[in-house]
Amino acid sequence: MTTKELKQMANRLRMDVVETIHHVEDGHPGPCMSIAEIITVLYFSEMNIRPEEPRWPLRDRCILSKGHACPIQYAAMARKGYFDMDELKKLRKLDGILQGHPDMNKTPGIDSVSGSLGNGVGIGLGIALGCRMQGIDNFVYVIIGDGEQQEGVVWEAAMAAAKHKVGNLIVLADCNNNQSGGKVTELSSLYPASEKWSSFQWHVQEIDGHDVEAIKNAIANAKAVTDRPSYIECRTIKGKNIPYMENNNAWHKRVPTKEEVEIARKYLGGAV
Ligand SMILES: [Mg+2]
Repeated sequence: MTTKELKQMANRLRMDVVETIHHVEDGHPGPCMSIAEIITVLYFSEMNIRPEEPRWPLRDRCILSKGHACPIQYAAMARKGYFDMDELKKLRKLDGILQGHPDMNKTPGIDSVSGSLGNGVGIGLGIALGCRMQGIDNFVYVIIGDGEQQEGVVWEAAMAAAKHKVGNLIVLADCNNNQSGGKVTELSSLYPASEKWSSFQWHVQEIDGHDVEAIKNAIANAKAVTDRPSYIECRTIKGKNIPYMENNNAWHKRVPTKEEVEIARKYLGGAV
C-alpha cells in the first residue's frame, strides 16, 4: 500500500469501529483511534502473515496488550480477510467470535488473550524466545498503552527481554497521555518513559504515532537492531481524527449516537 492508501485505511478502520460500537451498543472507541495508524501499518504493510492460514508457524505476531482497543484490530483483521466483515456486528456477543477483549481460542489470527493490563510484554517475550529457540525468523509486535506501563510486570518483562537479548521483540507504545481515570501525567506519571526503557537496555525511538511513514521507518530501524529488544514510543491522541472524541476521556468507553456516527463519518471522510 502507498502512504496515502495506508492513511485512508486507518480512517476506514476508525469508521468501522464507530459503526460497530454504535451497532452493538458497547465498546471502547477512544483507545482505538489512537492506534489506528499503528494497527494499519502492522497489518497492511509490515507483518508477514497469512490470513487464510492464521496459525502458520512462521508468521509475525501482534499482541494487543491494551486489549480493550480490540475493535480496531478486529476491523483490520476483517478487512485483511481473517473473517467476514459481518462478524463485527456480533462484537461482544456470547455467540460471536469477537469478544470484548482478545481471545485466541475464539478468534482466528489472535495470538494471545489480553485485557488484563500489563501482561503483553511478558507474553510477547515468551513467544519471541520460543520462536528464536525454534529457529523461526520472525518478529513479535506488542502494542501497549502508556497508563498500562504503571503495571510493575511490564518492567519485569522489560528487564528479562534485555537479559535475553531478544532482538525479535518490538514494543509499540500508544502514548496518548490518557488512561480511563484521567491524564497519565496527573495520576501516576510514566514520563519520561523513553529514558526508563533505555536504562533497561532497550533500543528506543520516539515518533509521531499518527505518521505512517514514521511508523514504517521506526519498525525498519528496530528490525535492524538484532541484539536488543526495541521500544517505539508513539506520540498519539486519544480519539484522533474525530474532534468530539479527541483527548476527551468520556470516550474511553461510550457508545456513539446515530448523529455522532454521521459526524464521525464527515470528519473521517474529509481527513484523508
Ligand atoms: Mg493511554
